[in-house]
Amino acid sequence: MGKAFILENTPLSDALRNCEQGGNAAECLNCGICSSRCSWFEGQSGPVPRKIVRLAQLGANDLLANSSMLWQCMLCNRCTEECPVGIRMDRVVCKARSLPQAGSLIPEDIKTGVKTRLEVGDVNGLTEEEFVETVEWLSEEFADEMGDPNAVIAYNQKNAKFLYLPNPRELGANVLHLTAMAKLFHHFGQPWTLSSKHTDVTNWGYFVGDDDVARKMAHQVVQDAEALGIDTLVLSECGHGFFVLKTLIEELIGRKPAFRVAAIAQIVLEMTENAIIRFDPDKLPEPAAYHDPCNLGRKSGVYDAPRKLLDLCCKQVIELTPNRRHAICCGGGGGILQDSTSKKLRMVSGKPKADQIRATGVKYLATSCLSCHRQLTELCKHYELEVQVDTVASLASKALVSN
Ligand code: SF4
Ligand code: SF4
Repeated sequence: MGKAFILENTPLSDALRNCEQGGNAAECLNCGICSSRCSWFEGQSGPVPRKIVRLAQLGANDLLANSSMLWQCMLCNRCTEECPVGIRMDRVVCKARSLPQAGSLIPEDIKTGVKTRLEVGDVNGLTEEEFVETVEWLSEEFADEMGDPNAVIAYNQKNAKFLYLPNPRELGANVLHLTAMAKLFHHFGQPWTLSSKHTDVTNWGYFVGDDDVARKMAHQVVQDAEALGIDTLVLSECGHGFFVLKTLIEELIGRKPAFRVAAIAQIVLEMTENAIIRFDPDKLPEPAAYHDPCNLGRKSGVYDAPRKLLDLCCKQVIELTPNRRHAICCGGGGGILQDSTSKKLRMVSGKPKADQIRATGVKYLATSCLSCHRQLTELCKHYELEVQVDTVASLASKALVSN
């Protein structure tokens, strides 16, 4: 069979050629398997992955750059799983998003967030002064809650074992999640710290497909963590944050960082397996199902750690079907959730997920990504599902037993 081609010497063809695992878009067979795998497939007008790749093949950059498909794609790579030639859809879509002529389609919130994050170190614009004020207040509350003056939430502590990189919501709308994580760290019994310089696990440079921006954001985190001399960078529950800072980090910054990187669920599991902490599953007696965040599961291969942790914390864990590499996206991935005008769209893109949750009949749902958590919570409300959504690490904190 003759090889398909991408027209040479266009910005997209150059970008794809230089892009590991996305550069083979030229090999697309136009079989359409990807389209049948997209969550949008069932009668909704969303992205058609076969069409995206075909436009890229034909060098139809203007058509592609002006297509609403680019920002409807959730970068979930469910289509990629069954592609016979392994074309990475997230790579193709991100490269197309980075075309100069695609700039006007970037949601305003994402443009602002990228700028703010580069300037301040936090996508919501939390300044260092505000960070210090928030964390010192939270630390006092935490010591009271634990009944232990030594229970502190430290920041900028050098040579700590762990540096925790929060999701921005943990320093704003969801400070309770940060306190829940502090409880876990306190029970580990080893020095841990936050950083006042870079307070944000997210990387919206990845969403806009701009490698230079993604690299700068990753460098901000790496340089600060290395200056603090920490042993392990512990990432908050954030799917795309994990994908960038763990899975893509060496490709992005061109070297290994001088510290280990792990998701909070992986560290909590490690502490449990080393008998440093333990749980009482009687505290969480209801059956809970696990939703695989696409960036953590399908795109980074982390399927087991959150499940093992849930098994230890909850009386009964059940599976959604399909799951793992076939899991259905929550409908908020790829930057859609971060666009404040997207609610209506997200309730459509998330309908297959809501249908799946309803079919399972579960009342408790856990996930390991705060973005999935927010989208799933809104979906359950919108589709009138009486389901409580929580994160895996938050459930671990609730089931923790004091030694
Ligand atoms: S599954 Fe792969 S080869 Fe088939 S149309 Fe989609 S991108 Fe092309
Ligand atoms: S990455 Fe996900 S949303 Fe995008 S085209 Fe593929 S299956 Fe659809």
